[in-house]
Amino acid sequence: SKQNGKSKVTRFTSAMKSDFLLRTELSRDMHSALDQQQFQLFYQPIVDQQGQIVKAEALIRWRHPRLGFISPAEFIPIAERSGLIINIGEWVFKEACQHLQQLKQYFHPDFQISVNMSPVQLAEQSSIFQDWHSALDKKGLKGRDLVVEITEGVMMTSSDEIKQRLLSCRELGIELALDDFGTGYSSLAYIRQFEIDYLKIDRSFVDNLEKDGNAQLICEAMISIAHKLKIQVVAEGVEEPGQAQLLKRMGCDYFQGYMISKPIPIQDLLHMPNQLTMI
Ligand code: C2E
Ligand code: CA
Ligand code: CA
Ligand code: CA
Repeated sequence: SKQNGKSKVTRFTSAMKSDFLLRTELSRDMHSALDQQQFQLFYQPIVDQQGQIVKAEALIRWRHPRLGFISPAEFIPIAERSGLIINIGEWVFKEACQHLQQLKQYFHPDFQISVNMSPVQLAEQSSIFQDWHSALDKKGLKGRDLVVEITEGVMMTSSDEIKQRLLSCRELGIELALDDFGTGYSSLAYIRQFEIDYLKIDRSFVDNLEKDGNAQLICEAMISIAHKLKIQVVAEGVEEPGQAQLLKRMGCDYFQGYMISKPIPIQDLLHMPNQLTMI
């Protein structure tokens, strides 16, 4: 009826308005959040086929004094629009560097931290990889200690200049991972062109692995092509032993997900056993 239609419009408008206000508030508060140490870096362990923790992905958390925990999925896009992602990205990198020493000591000298890089960072910071490499060097760390995760969109839309920028991490030893693989306009040509080291199979494929034969075929194909291109594969969002079992049989190299651990503070990571019984 007409009445229902009207109330729907009203609800939609007020939802939009509060959404706008929330974004404005978050955007404003984010500026002081760094100084006030409201951000925290969590780590999600990544295991190899033997169940050994060999890497961890750094995932940012924001504890807002009034609104509580805010998901990065919510505030990263806002930070990208305001430009604050540059400061946040630098903070994430510095924090990860601080923790790298301890993690290498605790787990293994080859332990790597994986950080997410926004397309905005890559576009705005012309010498980001060189800068990061010299910061690592000053701490006695190597480029190889770091993996940078980018998404497909970065490769698809980038200018030649940014392509060169991405390729520059090769000679610095910094490894590249292609995040959320399979969700965008994946092109195998791009993967080859950028000399990606790791391909991260998106959670959506892993989720359906046990129920959906097509998801199995797709995972199998992705792993097989990746390996032919000498790219290692990380499965994201592994929650069930059955999923890990299937992926392992397909030759998947690394596993990440709630089955192994949720993202946790550094102190908790430094209490995890080196070796997990995987499957
Ligand atoms: P992402 O890079 O794809 O990170 C994986 C997300 O999946 C994380 O969400 C993680 O907590 C979640 N996850 C991991 N295992 C499982 C699982 O088994 N089941 C389920 N249901 N979820 C799982 P989170 O931490 O909320 O991060 C969301 C997104 O925010 C990240 O997606 C990434 O795109 C972005 N992000 C997080 N930290 C940073 C950062 O420091 N910089 C930038 N630029 N982006 C970040
Ligand atoms: Ca990621
Ligand atoms: Ca991902
Ligand atoms: Ca994602």
